[in-house]
Amino acid sequence: MNVLELRDLSVDYLSASGAVHAVAGISLDLRRGEILGLAGESGSGKSTLANAVARLLRPPAAITSGSVVYRRQDGSPVDVLALRREELRAFRWKELAVVFQSAMNSLNPVSTVGAQISDVLRVHAPSMSRGERTERAVELLRRVGISADRRRAYPHELSGGMRQRAVIAIALALNPEIIIMDEPTTALDVVVQRDILHEIRELRQEYGFAVVFITHDLSLLMEISDRIAIMYAGRVVETGTAKGLHRAPRHPYTVGLLRSFPRLRGPREELLGIPGTPPDLRALPEGCAFHPRCRLAVAACSAELPELSGDAEGEVACLLNGGRGVEETS
Ligand code: SF4
Ligand code: MG
Repeated sequence: MNVLELRDLSVDYLSASGAVHAVAGISLDLRRGEILGLAGESGSGKSTLANAVARLLRPPAAITSGSVVYRRQDGSPVDVLALRREELRAFRWKELAVVFQSAMNSLNPVSTVGAQISDVLRVHAPSMSRGERTERAVELLRRVGISADRRRAYPHELSGGMRQRAVIAIALALNPEIIIMDEPTTALDVVVQRDILHEIRELRQEYGFAVVFITHDLSLLMEISDRIAIMYAGRVVETGTAKGLHRAPRHPYTVGLLRSFPRLRGPREELLGIPGTPPDLRALPEGCAFHPRCRLAVAACSAELPELSGDAEGEVACLLNGGRGVEETS
């Protein structure tokens, strides 16, 4: 069952030199309790999409079309784009929490991490007593690997990894159904980063929340995601299970991305990457936006926009898609 459904969602940045189509008609489902990885080069629209879903866009960015529907446990829909200010405040903590790229700096420097969790609970769960709030704060910190006595620590007294864990504990405070993480761990070293991500997987098992995890690092996503959506120039060009994408990527861009990162295990391969640069979102190429960089492009690719199509197992937006494995990855 889905917990979030995006349909034909578009976001423009309005500028003097024309509208930048940062997100161009995305339809995507998030299933209850899954970890969905969102990958793509910077500028592909990943963060804009996350901010649109969380209703955190600021002018000059604006949603120009589409819908975002959140489904409660009983399946009843909530029109996220229609929520009013007060409803939105509650929605953001109780149903959907966001952990940002700059998460570690989003902690309040003059308040202990324990107090910051208590504050969220005091505002959003007013029926809890002071004692219950403290108990919950200790429990949440323990769950993310911070011992009880460290709840009295100020952010500057914690390592980067610990600050990141504290931010995740705060996000979990009200048991949200969805956590959106926008490159939350990029500032951390690789070992700490992977530890935290594996812990998020375990927490997910326990609490049952779904995660949208955003990064440009596809190899990391392969390791922690259930499903992955690949974005290019504001569109989703491929979706699939992490295993399926790893074994048989179908979109030539996905193939290129897979080659851009060293494998975590096994022999090192040459980093081939993808030739060319991401397109100017003000003036996208006609047809498939990837065609100027695509080694498989045929004449039709510069005329026809490929639709995303497929089934529950995976979808791809490529005119040459005749089945799995357009091209071997290795
Ligand atoms: Fe390449 Fe054409 Fe497929 Fe686009 S539609 S990815 S240009 S083969
Ligand atoms: Mg980003």
